[in-house]
Amino acid sequence: MRIGFGFDAHRFAPDRKLILGGVLVPHMPGLAGHSDADVLTHAIIDALLGAAGLSDIGTLFPDSDPEYKDISSLELLRRALGQVATSGLRVVNIDSTVVCESPRIGPHVTAMKEKLSGVLQLAPDLISIKGKTTEKMGFTGRGEGIAAYAVVLLEEGASSR
Ligand code: MG
Repeated sequence: MRIGFGFDAHRFAPDRKLILGGVLVPHMPGLAGHSDADVLTHAIIDALLGAAGLSDIGTLFPDSDPEYKDISSLELLRRALGQVATSGLRVVNIDSTVVCESPRIGPHVTAMKEKLSGVLQLAPDLISIKGKTTEKMGFTGRGEGIAAYAVVLLEEGASSR
């Protein structure tokens, strides 16, 4: 068994879509970033890579590379998972928390789980996504952006389910 932890944060920016867990969330503003700025998926990718001992998202998909401009983070997740599988590891389960004052995360959790489930080839009930606020404290509390945390458990196995 291998455990991995991932964290990410992106600042709000006008004229950007808000993508969380691969889902377009109807909320203004969206998040700034080189890719689609899907902060939840980025945290999950870093947890996956960390568990597998495979550097991190910024090293694998540098934001200086035009290939990754506005790319779907689900595609980055697909590629990261491929590297994990090549290492002979597969995902057991994922737990994650999205931190922001708005939007409310709960109404979108089912859709996010379905999106992530499709890419990870992992049952939705093995993917946990929770929304939290910081009760108006700190940068998320002031509405400056969104943060996400994720832990991933990997086990040695032939390939991902
Ligand atoms: Mg990021």
